[in-house]
Amino acid sequence: MKIKVKVYSCYQRTYTPVCNRILKLLYGDNINSNDVTIEIEDTSENNTKNIQAQRRVTNNSVYKGRIIRIYENDVLKHIVGMSNTNYDEDRKYEFLQGQSNKETSKYGEDDYHANTYLKQGINQIFKFYFENKETADLNFYLLDTDKDVNYPNNLYNSLSYRELETIGFKVLNISDIDFSEYEEQCNSRINHNNLKFASFNKYLRDIAYISNRNSGNVPSFLQCDEVESIDEDGDSRFMTEKYTYIFKSLSAQQYDSLLKCWCLKVLADKEGTKIEFKLGKQYFDYSSDERRIAEELSQPVKEIFDLANLNIEYTTTEEFMNEKRKADNMYLRYKESNKIRNQTLFRNNIRKKGIPTECAICGNDDVNMLDAAHLWEVYQIKDSTQKQINNFIKVNNLQEIIKNSSEYSGDLFYKKYYLVNSGDNGIWLCKNHHKQFDLNYYCFDSEYGKIIFKFADQATATNFRNELKTNGLSKEILTPLTKSFLRMRQLDKQI
Ligand SMILES: [Zn+2]
Repeated sequence: MKIKVKVYSCYQRTYTPVCNRILKLLYGDNINSNDVTIEIEDTSENNTKNIQAQRRVTNNSVYKGRIIRIYENDVLKHIVGMSNTNYDEDRKYEFLQGQSNKETSKYGEDDYHANTYLKQGINQIFKFYFENKETADLNFYLLDTDKDVNYPNNLYNSLSYRELETIGFKVLNISDIDFSEYEEQCNSRINHNNLKFASFNKYLRDIAYISNRNSGNVPSFLQCDEVESIDEDGDSRFMTEKYTYIFKSLSAQQYDSLLKCWCLKVLADKEGTKIEFKLGKQYFDYSSDERRIAEELSQPVKEIFDLANLNIEYTTTEEFMNEKRKADNMYLRYKESNKIRNQTLFRNNIRKKGIPTECAICGNDDVNMLDAAHLWEVYQIKDSTQKQINNFIKVNNLQEIIKNSSEYSGDLFYKKYYLVNSGDNGIWLCKNHHKQFDLNYYCFDSEYGKIIFKFADQATATNFRNELKTNGLSKEILTPLTKSFLRMRQLDKQI
């Protein structure tokens, strides 16, 4: 079998040194070096263009970019998408030749921004794959893993490799990657031989941890349409009908959104769960980023969404206002029947907060078995006086937020409805631990979230301790507002 590796000339100095390793990773030892040729495809067009310009050229829709193509007997069999690199030998060469620009002199100096190393521009690799998927598969190869730099191993990129593997692409040199930061930060054990996410919820859980660390910039959230059913014990259970993943699009973030949506879709399809994607900047508080958030995805990224069958809806301001009106109408219905607990709203608000969907005590992550548990309890809020409610709102600077959330925000009933159903007033608990929480067998201290044991019965206490996954609420859950809600619970229960 004749094997031909094709490399574009604008990348020849950077990519040819790793071609043999790539072949080894793809074929093992079943390859005779006499049968291998490496062909450099000229992109210079009579030397009229510098390296950067050559890389941008597309000709007959073929992108002269981060792709190595491997042919078996002249049939394209493997596409290898390359990471970006901060050790770009071709640009260094060009710089030494005197065709310099400022950027080329940065060879190897700066750390790479998380989004730049792998994801930026990845749509072009996917595009080439979709055009050739009849005969070829798509793999990835990570550069710079032999250098003394951290970016190939950092949290954000590690997540991307797992996303690629979950979608069904292989990262050839994944064994070069040290996942210890990922494991430490996400509190998640990884099977290094199988990096695919095991379930939709386990993936969401890790995204939640990682987004929370990207402080002040929650890039997206998940909404869920559920149906409530009551079992023979009178317990309510919410079954998922459909998820909607709502995201905004900053210029570089759209590559990230592409991978996230694709990975979510693959996992949802596997579990038979319905998911839709919605781009809606109206949903986000984006004071500083406003100008950079697009109404739509850029055309090249949108093209890949289409090719991967990820249908995105775009939210117009009018639709957003309609949803707000719907929420107001729902509030009026609740007010009429004197109910302030809106469990569906509450559950979605907790999702919006982006905390892991798992029991805060034992870690059970079966989504259909999880209850959204109130911290400041519904009846306590309902019984509070106007003065107590207003004071809570004032102390926590919620005036503006509540005012912007509804035209009925002046009603005392609305304020109570808002607080009862606030995502910060809730945690996920399994049925068992929810019951024990409501029976006041245990609580969390409002400063550090540590579990306070209040069991009267020794056997139940020992059982409880054995099931504990953590010592208390994580930092992600324990926002300043959540601490306030917890304080109110403790005041009422005299803890
Ligand atoms: Zn539990």
